Amino acid sequence: MSEKQWKIESRLAQIGSIEEPVTGAVNFPIYQSTAFRHPRLGQSTGFDYIRTINPTRKVLEEASATLESGDAGFACSSGMAALQTVFALFGQGDHLIVSLDLYGGTYRLLERILSRFGVTASYVDTNDLEAIEQSCRPNTKAVFIETPTNPLMMITDIRAVAEWASQRQLLTIVDNTLLTPYFQRPLELGADIVVHSATKYLGGHNDVLAGLIVTKGKELSAEISFLHNSIGAVLSPSDSYQLMKGMKTLALRMDRHEHNATVLANYLLTHPAVAEVFYPGLEGHPGREIQNKQSSGNTGIFSFKVKDARYVEPLLRNIKLIAFAESLGGVESLMTYPAVQTHADIPAEIRDAVGVDDRLLRFSVGIEHTDDLIEDLRSALEAARQEIEGGEQQ
Ligand SMILES: *Cc1c(COP(=O)(O)O)cnc(C)c1O
Repeated sequence: MSEKQWKIESRLAQIGSIEEPVTGAVNFPIYQSTAFRHPRLGQSTGFDYIRTINPTRKVLEEASATLESGDAGFACSSGMAALQTVFALFGQGDHLIVSLDLYGGTYRLLERILSRFGVTASYVDTNDLEAIEQSCRPNTKAVFIETPTNPLMMITDIRAVAEWASQRQLLTIVDNTLLTPYFQRPLELGADIVVHSATKYLGGHNDVLAGLIVTKGKELSAEISFLHNSIGAVLSPSDSYQLMKGMKTLALRMDRHEHNATVLANYLLTHPAVAEVFYPGLEGHPGREIQNKQSSGNTGIFSFKVKDARYVEPLLRNIKLIAFAESLGGVESLMTYPAVQTHADIPAEIRDAVGVDDRLLRFSVGIEHTDDLIEDLRSALEAARQEIEGGEQQ
């Protein structure tokens, strides 16, 4: 059986472990070298200079391409670097259609940087093909999707959008950070480019900043390869190693994240201090059917709204096991307040329109025991209610 036929769990666990021909090292080593000797004039070992390619990064890039069912992978110094590299496909006069409930950094990149180069974007509910159609212009070049969105977990039908886009010769780009190739492979559904903040689930341990791009098609892969090398926001050999190490346990972690998030979302659903829970793993979540059709599992993060915005401050002060911190996808549980953290760069009117308001909290559920997570939330919510309601009675 060839490696390509292995199930994804096997391919993840074995990243790089059969590629080091000299010593047979089970862990592919860190090649900490920026330059590589040329055997003779006009000859190369395949490695010349680190920005173009490095052996450690190459193993990661090839594994990423296989995992996402793509033709080429590119490791970048951050998720934003990956996005910047992909957006460099576009220039003066080009227009993009982009998911409305968008990661704040992507919005900032488009509105404050890409706009300087004459690239414009329309933000629409990408699960509404009519809305996409209406925002399409003669100069539209691509549709950019996040699904599920963060923090509100809105689902887009990737296959439907990719079909619509390819009929018009537009690219479909998917930010697959929240589900990872373990649960969702957009290129198999017709997308052209997948991007990741590998800082999140792929790395998985809140210890490495990285981004990935995976492309389909020879021409597009060559174009991204050119941009990746020319822009130079590439991943270092040691961070490439660190990321591979994280990815080896991706399957185990994602199963546990999904399990824990489902338990915690159901717990909060019945809590008297909680008004609403947004998680595709819950019955009745809009888009759940599409999510189940295009993905084999659910992410480990969800959002919820407390009944009173005044609960937020004491809740964040009283959680102990769960850290009040700004990221997601690691083994440690983190809670984020999107309105003032991750989504602060999105104008208030857009935030309000999609529902990212001052009662909304985002919970990246780690791999701790669910009993401990429930107890941490229960006691912090209880303390918050006592502070607020106790105060009102005096
Ligand atoms: C974090 C994140 C990014 C940005 O990635 P960095 O690695 O922080 O640069 C982009 N998209 C999504 C969905 C993210 O969660």
